[in-house]
Amino acid sequence: MLNDPRSHGLWERTAPAAPATVALSGDVTADVVVVGAGFTGLSTALHLAERGVRATVLEAAEIGFGGSGRNVGLVNAGLWVMPDELPNVLGATHGERLLSMLGDAPRVVFELIEKHGIQCEATRTGTLHLGVGAKGAAELAERARQWQARGADVELLDRASTQRKVGAAHYTSALLDRRAGTIQPLAYVRGLATAATAAGATVHTGSPVTGYERSGENWRVTTPKGSVRARWIVVATNAYTSADKGAPWPAIREEIVHLPYFQMATVPLSDNLRGSILPERQGCWDTKDVLSSFRFDRQGRLVFGSVGALRGSGAAIHKRWVRRSLKRLFPQLAGVALESEWHGKIGMTTDAVPRFHRLADRVVSFSGYNGRGIGPGTVFGKALAQLIAGEIGEDDMPLAITEPKAQSFRSVREAYYEVGAQVAHLSSRI
Ligand SMILES: Cc1cc2nc3c(=O)[nH]c(=O)nc-3n(C[C@H](O)[C@H](O)[C@H](O)COP(=O)(O)OP(=O)(O)OC[C@H]3O[C@@H](n4cnc5c(N)ncnc54)[C@H](O)[C@@H]3O)c2cc1C
Repeated sequence: MLNDPRSHGLWERTAPAAPATVALSGDVTADVVVVGAGFTGLSTALHLAERGVRATVLEAAEIGFGGSGRNVGLVNAGLWVMPDELPNVLGATHGERLLSMLGDAPRVVFELIEKHGIQCEATRTGTLHLGVGAKGAAELAERARQWQARGADVELLDRASTQRKVGAAHYTSALLDRRAGTIQPLAYVRGLATAATAAGATVHTGSPVTGYERSGENWRVTTPKGSVRARWIVVATNAYTSADKGAPWPAIREEIVHLPYFQMATVPLSDNLRGSILPERQGCWDTKDVLSSFRFDRQGRLVFGSVGALRGSGAAIHKRWVRRSLKRLFPQLAGVALESEWHGKIGMTTDAVPRFHRLADRVVSFSGYNGRGIGPGTVFGKALAQLIAGEIGEDDMPLAITEPKAQSFRSVREAYYEVGAQVAHLSSRI
């Protein structure tokens, strides 16, 4: 994408084409301007269009250019925060509401995929959160206990069952979450764009929003070659919000710390090799601080990732670590060719909870998904459409409205994530 093979890697090679779009040119009107064509923006646009509300999406680059087109594709239920902890962080009402909405989010995602016939390699055999060492096992046991107390379809697997499910002996236990699954993320976000367009939304790519101003009762949102007048603005730029001087909505960027995350994919494996790893095709990640993830795509490529960016001094370190880890976990893969690599930035908040902001009158945003954006982006987008259509009020939203708060020492923390990942990858195998 945009001539950078490291930006979207495998997903760009195998996703169906995006709907044809052009840059905004001239002055137009809509009911709602949605800024950013990722899961959040396109789910908002789709659900608005289905309600007969005219939505115009303005995307700076291409559909799925941000985190939505680069991610692992794990359709997770819930957040990083322990279920029992969330009501302490958000208060009982929003804590319980968010738990129930995000626990159910994979179902919403998979039903949307089915409803709109989105070809995105959807797999519903669950995810495996893999325990490393005694600390990881204790964390997973507690997580399982808390979800099971809420009636969630999760199961704690012992070491032997985990080994059978993964095909590797390295993990002490695993939390199998049957609510969850995997998708090809760029294919999903392109499918959302196709569905939104078919329902009546307009999507303009190559159209960075450079400013916005009041225009009577409306907002006038400007791009280099045009403008849209609309009553509402939904800002869905998340971790890809520009920090450039003069860019709109810098507050969203300032409260997020970027965590770099990269992935590499093997060539399609032979039937024999495929059968020996993840026979039920769950998507996985582990309990380490510098975590790793792996999953298969539909053509039998193993997609392996961890914290770090594939640029500068880190590139060689991270790539060597992938080779060592693959060999240690799955010795049968020694020497297998790796054909794609890519990376992106994950938007982290101080408490690992997303944010809902009112940036001005009828200008709203969701951001800060902490590496869990497929389910949240989809359901928050739907909630925004319901809010704008007047079906629900602000009090019914998944999160309370908060003021953006800048994180201090942002660039130091961003550098720390990359250096920390390099140190971990220099000294460890999986
Ligand atoms: C490497 C990686 C792995 C991940 N793995 C997972 C995973 O397995 N499961 C999961 O659930 N989540 C995962 N995530 C997180 C998830 O991808 C994100 O939370 C999600 O994509 C956010 O969606 P979004 O629509 O809010 O924002 P994005 O998809 O980031 O979209 C924002 C868009 O806004 C556009 N934009 C920015 N500024 C402007 C402007 N001024 N004008 C117009 N457009 C603008 C950008 O170009 C971009 O396309 C991962 C993220 C990364 C980076």
